[in-house]
Amino acid sequence: MSNQKLNIQWFPGHMTKAKREMQSMLSMVDMVIELRDARVPNASKNPLIDELVGQKPRLIVLTKIDKAEDEETKRWIQLLSNEYTVVVGVDVLHDNVKKIISENALFLMKEKRERQIKKGMNPRAVRCMVCGIPNVGKSTLINQIAAKKTLVTGDRPGVTKNTRWVKVNKDIELLDTPGVLWPKFEDEQIGILLAITGAIRDQVLPLEEVAYAALKYLKAYFPERLQEAYGVTIIENNYKLFLEIGRNRNLLQKGNEVDYNRTIETFMKDIRANRFGKITWERTDAVHE
Ligand code: GDP
Repeated sequence: MSNQKLNIQWFPGHMTKAKREMQSMLSMVDMVIELRDARVPNASKNPLIDELVGQKPRLIVLTKIDKAEDEETKRWIQLLSNEYTVVVGVDVLHDNVKKIISENALFLMKEKRERQIKKGMNPRAVRCMVCGIPNVGKSTLINQIAAKKTLVTGDRPGVTKNTRWVKVNKDIELLDTPGVLWPKFEDEQIGILLAITGAIRDQVLPLEEVAYAALKYLKAYFPERLQEAYGVTIIENNYKLFLEIGRNRNLLQKGNEVDYNRTIETFMKDIRANRFGKITWERTDAVHE
């Protein structure tokens, strides 16, 4: 994950611009491919997307399923399917996303196309756009589908200059530029989930606070993984537990004392490197909008 990508700060001006760009892109497409992170499917939803997309058909794609719990991903897909017609989960890096996206996009547009055919019209290719908050996998997905590496990556709000259509197959065309939307800010809990999964940069929330929330979660749901990763006994006091983790990771400073700050940083690095295995950080049974 390149830090530069996460450097974008969402100021009201940026949001207004991103919104305007999104509206202008929406006017060019028949349907929307909305990406969310399978580890935090609710937290990674842009707060204004329902309003922006309106009635346009929307394919919901949960990305990074390789990092989320398989059972939880199934439950999320089921839950979201109550609200949206098509919800799929993908590992953008390894799945055949071109096939998955094009088949599901066509399925979503099937009735409309059949109506057109009945009226004797020859339906043109379905036009789609990809959108979502930073770091959710938009550029990677477009690159995979377009099978080229020429896309400008990076999250700049409103990059529609020189927008081109990528021909996916005879029935589907895709805007080569994603709609970059801002993440939720209003709720600290959600901010923490976005920080854990890397959607917002570390400077936005105190790393210590994020680390404590992550530790608490791991203790509640995966104590054995924590124990195994660091060879520690899980104790109630989180500060002391971090000191134990630091000691076992040999993160010491002068006088053989545990380097607490480095322990916090290392713990967060371990989380992002998937040291604890597949984790869904937002559970279907504890959704808070
Ligand atoms: P964007 O900001 O939405 O365009 O996100 P990117 O396409 O730049 O992806 C952000 C990071 O997530 C990159 O390091 C990608 O390699 C990684 N990534 C994207 N999709 C997946 C996925 O499904 N699984 C995993 N493990 N990593 C992914």
